[in-house]
Amino acid sequence: MSNTQSVMFVTKRPDIEMVSGQGSWLVDNHGKRYLDFLQGWAVNCLGHSDPGMLAALNAQASKVINPSPAFYNQPMIELADLLTKHSCFDKVFFANSGAEANEGAIKLARKWGRMHKDSAFQIITFDHSFHGRTLATMSASGKPGWDTMFAPQVNGFPKADLNDIASVERLINDKTVAVMLEPVQGEGGVIPASKEFMQQLRALTKAHNVLLIVDEVQSGCGRTGELFAYQLSGIEPDIMTLGKGIGGGVPLAALLSTDAVAVFEPGDQGGTYCGNPLMTAVGVNVIGQITAPGFLDDVKAKGQYLREQLLKLSDKHHLDGERGEGLLRALQLGSDMGNELVERARTMGPNGLLINAPRPNLLRFMPALNVTRAEIDQMISMLDEVMTVEIASRKQAVPA
Ligand SMILES: *Cc1c(COP(=O)(O)O)cnc(C)c1O
Repeated sequence: MSNTQSVMFVTKRPDIEMVSGQGSWLVDNHGKRYLDFLQGWAVNCLGHSDPGMLAALNAQASKVINPSPAFYNQPMIELADLLTKHSCFDKVFFANSGAEANEGAIKLARKWGRMHKDSAFQIITFDHSFHGRTLATMSASGKPGWDTMFAPQVNGFPKADLNDIASVERLINDKTVAVMLEPVQGEGGVIPASKEFMQQLRALTKAHNVLLIVDEVQSGCGRTGELFAYQLSGIEPDIMTLGKGIGGGVPLAALLSTDAVAVFEPGDQGGTYCGNPLMTAVGVNVIGQITAPGFLDDVKAKGQYLREQLLKLSDKHHLDGERGEGLLRALQLGSDMGNELVERARTMGPNGLLINAPRPNLLRFMPALNVTRAEIDQMISMLDEVMTVEIASRKQAVPA
């Protein structure tokens, strides 16, 4: 292991380096293999080193990497066309991270408010939501303490409760310009907004001439079995943001809006790398693969399969069941052993398993969308093994 003292400390990392990856497997500097059900936090939707993505990346790298955002380029145009063709939106702005796309969404809504709603600027967001780590997106997020951690915060993000329409209605006033939510809260613990709530929210926002923004950075791009999670409830939002899966692992994000809301003028929005052909060429390949005939049906079927296997595991170990959409799922543990299970799974042998506990009583699964049933079976059997050990050690720890 190399000396890591020059790397700024922002998170606790285990004493290993990841050196290569293929499909659902990662390999560390000791040659140990890990079955990867994190996939860069729901990022590598086609697994590690997908051949189609690599071909697109290499082909574009040898043509032109960055002609500057002052010019159109072919992959930018092609990806924007693909996204509008497959969604209810008309215009796309590309960014480099989910937080940056959400900043763009906040700016776009505020500009629309200035032009069309008497300078309304408040955006109602939700408890336990996650929208990124910039100042504005931390203020928009519903993580306790996040709005004041780097005070003074960005104002104008009152918080409602997910799946409680009355809590949203109470917050709407003449300063309200938008409601922003994740159709499935990811970091908050894989909590889906109900279909009924999404429909109520669309009706309420329409009635008050308020925009509806969906943050699909985690739930979008096939993760739920639909191309976009808003499609699960049959509604049409005004603004959507994408990140994570859209680049399949490379830094790419997008801000989409309807024509009526696309009010940016020259000077309002931009960025050095925004829409660069190297990343958008990869995005074209990724979205092409995800929208290929049968791909999303397969995601739905494997999501259902993963759900069934998790429920069996839950029954066997007397846990609290599971929840989620498609291949974004969580196992409800019923006790706070999530962090211990994550650690045991990574360090088990001969192969390790990578999973995540967004809350101590919850495990989250976000495998590649092209994960196989055999890999799901293998994950379940590895998890069964560490769970058996952890539960036994807990029984022993209880004084007689
Ligand atoms: C990960 C995430 C973000 C932030 O994306 P970054 O690329 O890390 O900036 C925003 N919203 C949601 C719902 C996310 O899951």
